[in-house]
This record gives sequence, C-alpha cells and structure tokens, in this order.
Amino acid sequence: MTGGGSARYAEVVLPVPVSRAYTYQVPDALADRVVPGARVVVPVRRGSVVGIVNAIRDQLSAIRDIKPISAAPDEQPALTPALLQLGHWMSDYYGAPLGLALRAILPGPLWSVARPAGPGEASERVLALTQRVESLLERERVFKRAPKRRVAYEAVEALGGSAPIRHLTDQLKLSNTVINGLVTQGLARIDRHTETRDPFAALSSPPPASLTADQQRVVAATQNAAADTPVLIQGVTGSGKTLVYLDLLRGVVASGQGAILLVPEIALTPQTVARVRGVFGDQVAVLHSGLSDGERADAWRALRRGERRVAVGPRSAVFAPVQRLGAIVVDEEHDPSYKQGSAPRYHARDAAVERARLEGGARVILGSATPSLETLDLTRRGRVVRLTLPERVGARPLPPVDVIDLKTAPRVPEAGAIPWTEALDGAVGGALQRGEQVILLLNRRGFATFVQCPACGHVPGCPQCAIALTVHQTPAAMRCHYCGHEEPVPEICAICGHATQRLRGLGTQQLEHFVAARFPAARIARMDLDTTSTKWSHHHILERVARGEVDILLGTQMIAKGLDFPNVTVVGVVDADTGLHFPDFRAAERTFQLVAQVAGRAGRGPKGGRVYVQTRSPDHHAIQAAAAHSMEAFAEAELPHRTPPNPLYPPSVGLVRFVVSGREQGRTAAIAERVAAWLRRAGTERLEGALTVLGPAPCPITRLKGLWRWHVLVKAAEARALGRVVRAWRAKSHRAVTVDRDPVSLL
Ligand code: ADP
Ligand code: ZN
Repeated sequence: MTGGGSARYAEVVLPVPVSRAYTYQVPDALADRVVPGARVVVPVRRGSVVGIVNAIRDQLSAIRDIKPISAAPDEQPALTPALLQLGHWMSDYYGAPLGLALRAILPGPLWSVARPAGPGEASERVLALTQRVESLLERERVFKRAPKRRVAYEAVEALGGSAPIRHLTDQLKLSNTVINGLVTQGLARIDRHTETRDPFAALSSPPPASLTADQQRVVAATQNAAADTPVLIQGVTGSGKTLVYLDLLRGVVASGQGAILLVPEIALTPQTVARVRGVFGDQVAVLHSGLSDGERADAWRALRRGERRVAVGPRSAVFAPVQRLGAIVVDEEHDPSYKQGSAPRYHARDAAVERARLEGGARVILGSATPSLETLDLTRRGRVVRLTLPERVGARPLPPVDVIDLKTAPRVPEAGAIPWTEALDGAVGGALQRGEQVILLLNRRGFATFVQCPACGHVPGCPQCAIALTVHQTPAAMRCHYCGHEEPVPEICAICGHATQRLRGLGTQQLEHFVAARFPAARIARMDLDTTSTKWSHHHILERVARGEVDILLGTQMIAKGLDFPNVTVVGVVDADTGLHFPDFRAAERTFQLVAQVAGRAGRGPKGGRVYVQTRSPDHHAIQAAAAHSMEAFAEAELPHRTPPNPLYPPSVGLVRFVVSGREQGRTAAIAERVAAWLRRAGTERLEGALTVLGPAPCPITRLKGLWRWHVLVKAAEARALGRVVRAWRAKSHRAVTVDRDPVSLL
C-alpha cells in the first residue's frame, strides 16, 4: 500500500512467540480506534489474526508493501495503558516474547478472529442420576451383570450426581453403550443444557456483623500504611482474613474505585464466592475456569465498561480490566498455582505488585497463614509491611496436632499395606460416631502408585516420560500423570512373564476403598483431579460437605485450602512424606505449607478438633513446625538450608531455570551444554561475575511427553543481572529452550 504525503503506521504485536512487532498501515476510517492497547484485525500470510497495537508512528514518506489494518472491533482500546505496560514488564522481567505476554492478559475468546462480536453459547448433553443406589449390597445386585455400568454410575456419583456426557466419554473413556445402559435401566437421564445461567447468582452469605478487635487493628494499620508498600496479613488459619479483605475492599469500592481479589483456583469454592457476593452483590464478576467462552467475555466486558467493579478469580484475574483500580488482594499468596506454567511464566503475586504500581498507587494486600519465604524476606527488608492475626476468631484454639511415627506406631491389621494407625483409626471412628466430619489428606491420586512385578522387580513406566505409570481403578487403566498416556493394567510382567503383579504405593482411590470398607456407614466424597475435571465438580462436592451430606472428605492437596467447615473435628494426614523427599529445594516448604494448611481445617467450630499427621520423618523440621502451627519455627529452621555454607537458594538469591527439551538425548544435552557455556560467558564478560551457573544436568523428570529434558540453573544476588540475562536470551529465542524466572518447581 502506498499513499502520498504523511501516513500513519501501527506497530502491532501478534499473539505468537516472536519478540518483534509488525508494521501495518492505519486506514483513515479507523484512525480514531487504532491507538496503543487496541485490538485490531490484521492480514497475515494465511488469513488474518487479532493483534494489539503497541505504538503509532507518523512517517512522512510512505513505506512500501505495508498492508492496512482490516478492522478495529472495539470502541475503547481493550488494554488500558497500565495493562499494556504490564505486558511489557512481563516480557522484560520473565524474558518472554511480548506477543505471549500480551496474549496472557486478554482472555482467549477476545483473540478469535472468527467471532469478533464475541462467542455464543453451545448446548451440552448432561447425564444426571435419577435414582440412588445407597448400600453396597444393593449395588452388587443392581450391577451384577454390568460392572462397567457400575463404574459409570460411581463416576457420575463422585462428580456430584451429574456430568457432561462429553466428559464421560472423552476423559473417563466410558462408552455410549454403557451410558445409554444406565438410562435404559432407569438410573439416569440425559438432559440438554442450553441456557447460560449466572452460575453464582444464587450464592450469597452475609458477612459477620462486626469485626473483632484484631481484625479492626489490621484493617486500620493497612489503611494507614503507605499506599505504595504492599501489606502482608499473616493470620493463622481461621483468624478471619477473608473478612479483613472484604472490609478493606468495601472502603475501596465506597470511594468509587474498583478491586481485584485473587484466590488459588481451588479456593473458588461456593464459600468464598458467597462471602464476596454477600458484601458486593452484583458488583462482582467471578472469573472461574468453569465459565464458558461467552460468560468469560461477558464478565470481561462488564469490568471493562465499569459495570462491575470487583473481580474475583485465580491467577489470570490479575489482568482483569477493572476500572480505577484501588486494591489487589492476593489470598494464600504462597500458593504455587499463582505461577503460570507456560510462557510468560508470570507469578500473579509479583504481577499484582507491578500492576498496582503502574495503576498509580493501587494498594496490594497479601494474605496467608503460611507466607512464602520470599515474602517474609521482603518484610524483613522493609519492602512489605507485616501485620498479624495471631488468634482464631472467637479465641478458638488452634487444633492440637499428633505426629504419629509410621515406623513404630501400631497399625490396624486389616489395613494391609495402607499406612493406617490405630490412633487415626480411633479418631475417625469416634468422630463418625459423634456425627462429626472428617478430612483425610493423601497427596497422591490414583489407586496404587505403581505396579511392580514381585519376581523381577520391573515397574512399568510411561513410554514417553521417565516416570512410573499410576494405577487407576475407575476406569481401570494405567495412566501417566504427566502426559496422560494410558494403557491397560498388565496381567503378566512384560519383562519376565510372571503372572501376578503387585500394587505398590497408595493413592486416593485405594484409600477411598479401604475407608469405605472400614467405615461402611460413612458417606464418603473423594476430591482430586480425577473427580473434579468437570466445570462445577468442586462446587458440587463441597456443597454436599457443607450441607452435612458427607461424613468423610478425602483427597489430594485440593482439600487443604481455604475450606471452612465448623463440623470438621478430625483431620488426618495419611502420609505426610509424599513430597518431602522430592529433589527440589522447595520440598520442605511445600510439605510444611500443605500440612499446616490442612491442619487448619480442623476445629473451626465450637466442638474443637484434633489433627493426626502420619509420617516416617517425625523429627523433620517441616513436620515439626506444621504440628506447632508455627511459620516462624519453619522459617528459622529452613532459611539456614538456603544460605552459606549451604548452596544459596531463594530468598537469598534470585533464580532462573533454563530447560532444554528435545527428541534426541545427545542433541538435547549438547544444546544444554551450549546454553550453560553462553551463560557462563555472559556472566564473566558482561556481568562481572554476578552469575552462578549450575549444570547442565538432567532434570529430575528426565523425560516428559517423549522429550528428553536437561536444565541449567542460574543464580544471582542482583535481580538486575538476571533481568539482563533473560532479555539477552529472549533476543536469541531458541525454540528448544524455555526460561523460567523465579521457578516454583525444579522437577
Ligand atoms: P481464614 O481465611 O483466616 O482461615 P476465615 O476467613 O475462613 O479464616 O474465617 C474463619 C471463620 O470465622 C469463618 O467461618 C468466618 O465466617 C468467621 N469469622 C470471621 N470474622 C468473624 C467475626 N468478626 N465475627 C464472627 N465470625 C467471624
Ligand atoms: Zn507420560
């Protein structure tokens, strides 16, 4: 396109992993709308895509062969200046291509060229159980000749009584014949859900009438703190942090500003949503992973137009287009789900701090009973203000924690290989007898961890990933927890042909079986990735617990977070050691957080409660500190492990991880060598020895989805040195290498 005289050009960033912007010509008709931050539709080699305008340039002489922008669908630019700058910050800090940083900021449906007007709603077929088959005996009878139907029935039951058919067939591999069988047998019916309902419309619980003295003190101290210094509210489990957030946000909203409340995805339970809606009603936009594209786009637009002023959601809600942003709360700020697992690999807590700064003084409030060591370190250096809620609401005591040594404690003989001690057994039995509720944590899903041949010791592994396959029972299969690879459970050993295979290790499915047999009258719900993959499954399960329809809730780390059920008097950690010995410097920290958090679910009501932690490492500082509910004790014992004379780890230094992956082992290792050499050279030649480079070494998970994995770790006391390295690497943009700054996992 050529034109006479002055022409305007737009630098457009496309949602692809390249570091540069593309230049397009701005047609006169679109000049008003094509401004920095605007969504535009532009032609590319094949078809067209949605991009974001990064900058406008006036140029006297026209550039040749520049295509014009085809459309600019929004009246207002999709990204405010602050959000566009936040994209630049993410790209620079994490060393990610700008296109990927901007792609993370706008929700998926807004990138669709096919439907620039916004997505519509598709209908969905749902299988709903119509009849309860309560007792085990009756189940045996009803499903006598149809074991697969029973599997299907129990899967839907575990999902809260209904589930989309697509989920049953695609994820759980149930056949249509089996599903239709349930319908013919009169046990279920098929519904068609077409209408878009606001899934949260009915949820609302009014806040407690008044704040406690401690809560008032923390609210006042937060309001008096300098607005540009983040506040950490370190409150023990059950200290009423949520009410403090809501009270602070009420002040923000009353002054005409908007706010964001970030929660770990799993904490988006009916409880949290109801509490927030109880204060803000229809001002709230809940951004949940279960929303359809249409619902998501609607919520985004309502916030962008200022019709809703409070956004609640997981990680990505840090980008919610809230107008006149006054505050961002990051609840459970230590939670690893705040870190994005793919580029731009941002941490929502750190992005929140940066966004607040860019918005011109929005306040950041971090909250946790078990803050990250990084945040605690910032409080020591005066960069974050620490406020504490040292007691539970109503002066309720924190529950006593019994640490049970699995090496010596008497076991229940019927439990076989399951670590089930008499102490835990008695506690669970007692609670059930008194009509109280029990939470059991086992942080490993599946039935058994793996299959092992008793004759030759062979353990079947995933053909793509260097990891043993996990045995699942419903549906019966061996599954890889990294790539999803599935194969039948072997009847004979693939190596030596031995006929019986032994199940080793313990997963939530097997625990559920055992507990059901041990306490036949108890109503049990299991919550892990396998029972919660549909839209509203968390909600369904937790609503049943809240209504008292579940006696024992058992599951993985999902059940450790945020739950507030006053009738839970016993919490059991069946095996506290599942993650304690991972080759990751955060293994102890994660274990401490997990055990302390799940312990905090007990004794929230007048009946009190008690926690039972089964472990083979009763003296480990993570277990000891969790048993004492003491963040201070944990930090004091853990920090020396990360400071000299031990190798330095965060928070003593900043960390960047370079992961190289490839089909061929030798080539992958060779690229990793070159990355390490480049980093060492950059460290000595350009950064005056500011970097410590470790590796290359094979990753602890040496193979994943068919790719070999090697990594190189880079440490530096100076954040600026790490920033320069990741930006220099970004310019090289090597496909086989991913860069992870401030990694939350080294596996
Ligand atoms: P945390 O998030 O700190 O673990 P929650 O916010 O879940 O704690 O609060 C624990 C319980 O105390 C909740 O049931 C909540 O309704 C109740 N609570 C909080 N503040 C008050 C208050 N001021 N008066 C009465 N009950 C309160
Ligand atoms: Zn795999």
